[in-house]
Amino acid sequence: MDIHEYQAKEILSGFGVEVPPGALAYSPEQAAYRARELGGEKWVVKAQVHTGGRGKAGGVKLCGSDSEIFDACEDMFGRKLVTHQTGPEGKGVYRVYVEAGVQIEREIYLGLVLDRSSQRVMIVASAEGGMEIEEISAERPDSIVRATVEPAVGLREFQAREIAFALGLMPSLVQQMVRTLQGCYRAFTELDATMVEINPLVVTGDGRILALDAKMSFDDNALFRRPQISELRDKSQEDPRESRAADRGLSYVGLDGNIGCIVNGAGLAMATMDTIMLSGGAPANFLDIGGGASPERVAKAFRLVLSDAKVQAVLVNIFAGINRCDWVAEGVVQALRELQVDIPVVVRLAGTNVEEGQKILAQSGLPVIRASNLMEAAQRVVGAWKNDVAQATEVRAAQ
Ligand code: ADP
Ligand code: MG
Repeated sequence: MDIHEYQAKEILSGFGVEVPPGALAYSPEQAAYRARELGGEKWVVKAQVHTGGRGKAGGVKLCGSDSEIFDACEDMFGRKLVTHQTGPEGKGVYRVYVEAGVQIEREIYLGLVLDRSSQRVMIVASAEGGMEIEEISAERPDSIVRATVEPAVGLREFQAREIAFALGLMPSLVQQMVRTLQGCYRAFTELDATMVEINPLVVTGDGRILALDAKMSFDDNALFRRPQISELRDKSQEDPRESRAADRGLSYVGLDGNIGCIVNGAGLAMATMDTIMLSGGAPANFLDIGGGASPERVAKAFRLVLSDAKVQAVLVNIFAGINRCDWVAEGVVQALRELQVDIPVVVRLAGTNVEEGQKILAQSGLPVIRASNLMEAAQRVVGAWKNDVAQATEVRAAQ
């Protein structure tokens, strides 16, 4: 789960990371009012959307007066901000953050990520702040400092000092940098984050280290024990297909293809997507319905997959160990009856109660295409989908 910049800043400042004074606003009037509350002469109005690259897309504006704040806000509120990370549909701006304008002397990149190969939190930093990490690693890979943290002892001061020196910080700033790094590390581990990124972390004209931007992502599987984090979820920023799935306890990722997939087990779901591609189709989603899925759960999964208008055929692929094929079949029949599905549906069942499952499908009288293994299932669903598309084109041509 991702959160907004202002939320990440509030969290990080609780862990000792310094941030500029700022305030949230839901309207242009409120933004101007909050800027007056903050005081000072320069403010930055920042669109709160779950994406980076806002600066280049017009989502970060420096303002020097009430009327400039108004103008900046009117450009942002209610719009979709399209950055290089959002895709062409963009993300809606419903709140802005008004922050004191800071005089920047130096920009640093700082990121904390989970490094899977060392199974540690890795700190990635670069003196070339302001650029995205992808650009830095393409253009100035030598500038990147990396350090993995030993989880048993946490981030020790000496290691944080080493990073500060490697970035070429003046001795007078080292202690502040150590506090920033340790704060980020503690926030990361104590809140089950998967990513903390401060880009840029700046050195100001008056010799302070401030986080000017902040991004945090959290492990969805740990949210149950982080109520104060789950509260920060903003569904307006999520793919609606994925929010619906999360609300139903299903593990779903929306993709760009036309073949909806309903599978049990993440590994089998990945293999199913691969096999569809291999057969000349493209999956519309990843969906793992999990173990022990009841007919109702299967029907829910069906509704979810079909709510995506791009879906033109469905493949149900179940290898039942904990699951039961008869329950899955019941769920499929229930969903097909209720939703009056008129696109091809291919079902491949294997494992526990497979005979009962096949019987339920056969006796339902529904036009379900059956397959006995994954390759056959993928080929059938792609074949049926291509057929449908060809027929639709013929019909259009005849008209
Ligand atoms: P994004 O990464 O989404 O583009 P940032 O928060 O990094 O958004 O802002 C973009 C740029 O705007 C920063 O690199 C920085 O140069 C400038 N900026 C952001 N916040 C402030 C601020 N409070 N004062 C001065 N400049 C700022
Ligand atoms: Mg940034």
